[in-house]
Amino acid sequence: MTSTATASPAPVGHGGLAGLRPRLPSPVQDVVDERFERRGVRLVLKRDDLIHPELIGNKWRKLAPNLSAATGRTVLTFGGAYSNHLRATAAAGRLLGLPTVGVVRGQELAGRPLNASLARCVADGMRLHFVDRATYRDKTAPATLAAVLREAGAVDAYVVPEGGSNALAVRGCRALGEELAGRADVVATACGTGGTLAGLASGLGRGGRALGVPVLKGGFLAAGIRGLQAEAFGGPRGDWSLDDRFHFGGYARTTPELDAFAADFERRHGVPVERVYVAKLLYALVVLVEENAFPRGSTVAAVVTGRPFP
Ligand SMILES: *Cc1c(COP(=O)(O)O)cnc(C)c1O
Repeated sequence: MTSTATASPAPVGHGGLAGLRPRLPSPVQDVVDERFERRGVRLVLKRDDLIHPELIGNKWRKLAPNLSAATGRTVLTFGGAYSNHLRATAAAGRLLGLPTVGVVRGQELAGRPLNASLARCVADGMRLHFVDRATYRDKTAPATLAAVLREAGAVDAYVVPEGGSNALAVRGCRALGEELAGRADVVATACGTGGTLAGLASGLGRGGRALGVPVLKGGFLAAGIRGLQAEAFGGPRGDWSLDDRFHFGGYARTTPELDAFAADFERRHGVPVERVYVAKLLYALVVLVEENAFPRGSTVAAVVTGRPFP
């Protein structure tokens, strides 16, 4: 092995992260919304978007244990051109003095001006490495990963998977469930990889039911979540389910109706609504309450996992 491993590691550990003074446990906010009141259901928002101004929401919970484990090594991870996870990793790198490399899906992006999200990653010191879609798809295969690390000049890097969901990340999200256990009958979160839901359900234990709203089309998520729980905890944990009806066509897809819903929610409650994940979650909950999916007298907590960018 070469280069970076021999340099004395930056002083990053639990101390380094604690120095960023996250707001944990994150606040729980009551919202008065007639659509819920009418059905006798109490809605609360779990404001994970307020954990840290730059390392937002579930990205904090997932990245923090990985950054500790990286112990000063370069952190390399994967994402699409609009990935919240890439931005959070880049921000963490700047805040903690860790070198970061982002492997970005889409070789064709390499020659073009960067979008605002990738430009922010670069401004935060992240080195971007663009790969074609076939390589990106195959990135978990050992030979492909080794080649990507070599080409990116980061053979000694600490590798965090796409979306940040590994066993450490899922265990990091347990605290989200522990913070809410016994405080809500249902805790709902939007799902990308499902790592957040996997940890949340475990932390809730018998203290509530977890409900996931996938923002991607596909239906492979339940198996992925079972796999993540097996990796993180050795087996299934908690009571969780998915409602697959609210992806609006797929990742980052939207409709005029969803946009109008999100803008209206912001106006009603003064809470910024992130559009890729959180808007779909809140929309789902309004539909579910109208379907009488939650008994009268119950409390539903919606996890606000992020904030709009920029
Ligand atoms: C990344 C992200 C998610 C998805 O989290 P998973 O653990 O991958 O399911 C949800 N909401 C927001 C705002 C995110 O940025």
